[in-house]
Amino acid sequence: MTITPQPGILDIALYQGGEAHAPGVVDPVKLSSNENPFGPSPRALDAFRQAAGNLHVYPSTDHAALRAAIGEVQGLDPERIICGVGSDEIISFLCYAYAGPGDEVLHTEHGFAMYRISALAAGATPVVAPEDNRKTDVDALLEACTERTRLVFIANPNNPTGTMISQADLERLADGLPEQALLVLDGAYAEYVEDYDAGQSVIDTRENVFMTRTFSKIYGLGGLRVGWGYGPQQIVDTLNRIRGPFNLSSPALQAAEVAMRDVAYTDRCRIENTRMRTWLSKALENLGVPSDPSFCNFILARFADPAEAEACDAHLKSRGLIVRRVGGYGLPECLRITIGDATACKRVAAEVAAFKGQVR
Ligand SMILES: *Cc1c(COP(=O)(O)O)cnc(C)c1O
Repeated sequence: MTITPQPGILDIALYQGGEAHAPGVVDPVKLSSNENPFGPSPRALDAFRQAAGNLHVYPSTDHAALRAAIGEVQGLDPERIICGVGSDEIISFLCYAYAGPGDEVLHTEHGFAMYRISALAAGATPVVAPEDNRKTDVDALLEACTERTRLVFIANPNNPTGTMISQADLERLADGLPEQALLVLDGAYAEYVEDYDAGQSVIDTRENVFMTRTFSKIYGLGGLRVGWGYGPQQIVDTLNRIRGPFNLSSPALQAAEVAMRDVAYTDRCRIENTRMRTWLSKALENLGVPSDPSFCNFILARFADPAEAEACDAHLKSRGLIVRRVGGYGLPECLRITIGDATACKRVAAEVAAFKGQVR
């Protein structure tokens, strides 16, 4: 065969998304992709509908209005913000711009699948550092660094573990990296954490730290595909060179801008998530299904072994509750359960109880 892809491409396993269907169930509750059960801000939906009137016009290429909104709400310099088609696109820009054949892209043991996929797509070599009981281990990351390490991805808090590390640990990691390596803090769930600046102060006092963020989680816009990044000017300028000029559509830009400004809506979503997460993790723990303290909109429920996790998943599915198996993340004894609304959380607890009753 003469037509062959670049080295590394065929090592990419296809991304496994959260399932959306349960056989024989008409209207299942999807708790497999960490979506906001309340959807986006109603104002953002209005903005999306209004954008339909102008679909013949090309969108903004510099995303100035969206960057201004992000800058105002988050207290960031809009010049140092870049917007992408989900944070996935920002992750991919980072890999293409900073890692290639012979370079290493480091991530944690139970890290988000896109780090490996994007590293391989760029021709680079993904390298995995162990965690400490499902928590990012700064020492293990520093030990795994070599003179070829170019990017270090950690999600803080992390998916699928739900755990996070402290500001002091973030600083120790940033300061311990080799000089050619950029630390990328994936803040997809940062808005769910009370009193966390998503690593902003670590970024603003250094030249080697960058953050990625998304509208897919607390803002409830996963279907729209909008994310953003923030960091040193020189890095933002570099990424903008490989960004497609019209990467974001005008309905996406306009809805995301309004969603960002609807701070009261975001606050309500955070408060309700914390309330139901606390409730569900306690309810499952009382049933003998523990989880680490989660800082996200999901919990990672731990079962006795992979067989029990699989059986519970099958039971939940038969009752119309779709959760996420995370064997692909090296956690076959766990199920990742998105925090749905109160009704969904109560159903999960009741069905796990029914399942535990059956197996006893
Ligand atoms: C969901 C998620 C994202 C978001 O990806 P988008 O492309 O913005 O939808 C990024 N990182 C992690 C760790 C996630 O769980």
